[in-house]
Amino acid sequence: MISDRDCDLRLELSGWQFRQLVDLAMEHIVAHIDSLPEQHAWNSDGAADLARSVIEPLPTDGSDAADIFQKFFGRYLATTYNTASPGYMAFVPGGGLPQSAVADLIAGVINRYVGVWIAAPALAQIETTVIRWFCDIVGYPKQGGGFLTTGGSLANWSGLVTARRCRLPDDFQSGLLYTSNQAHYSVQKAAMLAGFPTKNVCEIAVDSQFRVRVDLLAEQIAADRALGRTPFAIVGHAGTVNTGAVDALDALADLADQEGLWLHVDAAYGGFFMLTERGQRLMKGIERADSIALDPHKGLFLPFGNGCLLVRNLDHLKQAHSLTGEYMPPMQDEPDFVDFCQISPELSRDFRGLRTWLPIKMHGIEPFRNNLNEKLDLTRWAVEQLRSINNEIDDELEIVAEPQLSIVAFRLLRQGLDEPQLTRLNEDLREKINRNRRVYLTPTILDGRYVIRICVIQFRTHLARMKECLQEIRKAIGKVS
Ligand SMILES: *Cc1c(COP(=O)(O)O)cnc(C)c1O
Repeated sequence: MISDRDCDLRLELSGWQFRQLVDLAMEHIVAHIDSLPEQHAWNSDGAADLARSVIEPLPTDGSDAADIFQKFFGRYLATTYNTASPGYMAFVPGGGLPQSAVADLIAGVINRYVGVWIAAPALAQIETTVIRWFCDIVGYPKQGGGFLTTGGSLANWSGLVTARRCRLPDDFQSGLLYTSNQAHYSVQKAAMLAGFPTKNVCEIAVDSQFRVRVDLLAEQIAADRALGRTPFAIVGHAGTVNTGAVDALDALADLADQEGLWLHVDAAYGGFFMLTERGQRLMKGIERADSIALDPHKGLFLPFGNGCLLVRNLDHLKQAHSLTGEYMPPMQDEPDFVDFCQISPELSRDFRGLRTWLPIKMHGIEPFRNNLNEKLDLTRWAVEQLRSINNEIDDELEIVAEPQLSIVAFRLLRQGLDEPQLTRLNEDLREKINRNRRVYLTPTILDGRYVIRICVIQFRTHLARMKECLQEIRKAIGKVS
């Protein structure tokens, strides 16, 4: 016979025990936050050995939490790209507001279900409210809507699946989509996972500022139609990952209208610059897109795991996703209530809304706007400095991509070197810039040219660190042979 005496209660922490645990973790967290400015911006030393040291068989017995945290913070964390460091200007950073981590702690402890509105009405509404705020930021009408994903890749994927479901028959294999040759690879991956043959993604050339050539795009669509093919969607960019280029979104929207195509805008990097006037000018027309991918873990500085898909008309998401099962509770008809399981691929999932809602409620949107404006200014400052280096050196520092938002791409040119030699020169330069670990910059390839990017969108990066970055660049240029 089963009895209460035999049950194992070790998993059930009392409130007091939970506090002990959080306090233990908090000691490390506080030290971590306070030492961020001194921490390395990256470290990959001994990566493989360290990673292998983590492998172990399923433990039968537990270990002391204090020891676990000690090892985690002391050893595991030290060998990483430090995406929370103010010197991290690689890829597309965001920083990770720790305020959001408090939201995650709460969300995890209460463990409420937000996939279905009736299960936690006010909590689901918190998430819907966040979506409404995002719709307002990009200029979507009241019919707009969306849901939070774990990142931009899944937002792009869901956007393309929605476009496919709304614009193509069940037999959709002939559908063609168009994007620029600057698309993030997640666009190609999204198309692939949405079921399209890879050849159905047509990459169109860009102009000197890395914006899609709308004239060439129109020609390609016409040529494909003439061959009896089925164009159905365009993926535009509000900030490419390589250079932050913003396509002529109004022109893309005109073309999409004319051709009856779905317009999806990948705004994973650039979208939240819509909070700034400069961003609004640049991204004019984004509000005409049928769907938009955003990444709050970039432009709103949230921790990783925060993406978003918005649609101009929520009915499209319903049309693409609505299914239900006999075991499900009733769904909502009220236009201002949303059952997330009805408009997105997931059913059970974490309570994502709280992570965004809490920091915005606490601070209001102004600090976010101010930080984004500051990053635009910092990038411009960095470009001026890069240019001025040319007065100090024999080689030439070429700005390969002027910043449209907060990314600049540059490289060192040296007379007499061919392209492979220039690549090696700039690989060496980048290695020397990063060597002191005060900053971390990553490269990309533009028209076959190896370039070094500075991407400033992490909230902790301010002028002092940018000055250090320029100093590292100057010193490194002095040392490359
Ligand atoms: C970061 C990024 C993505 C991918 O987003 P994840 O959140 O990393 O999945 C897609 N497009 C652009 C332009 C990006 O900058």
